[in-house]
Amino acid sequence: MRTEEKIICNCCKRVIVEKNDIPKREYLHVEKKWGYFSEKDGEKQEFDICESCYDTWIRNFKLPITSQEITELL
Ligand SMILES: [Zn+2]
Repeated sequence: MRTEEKIICNCCKRVIVEKNDIPKREYLHVEKKWGYFSEKDGEKQEFDICESCYDTWIRNFKLPITSQEITELL
């Protein structure tokens, strides 16, 4: 979740990034515009998840996520 000055994890309410700080933590930002075939037609949803909640989340997946080592860091 984003406010003027920070990004907060929607799942655990921890502050992930303070806007004036150098971002030291990574997080997942999801933005989804639901379309006609969904039950949320025309709705835009957004949330932010910290890395530890992300890890907990994907551990519950029935199929493991695709993961790949990146050699070239941007
Ligand atoms: Zn979290």
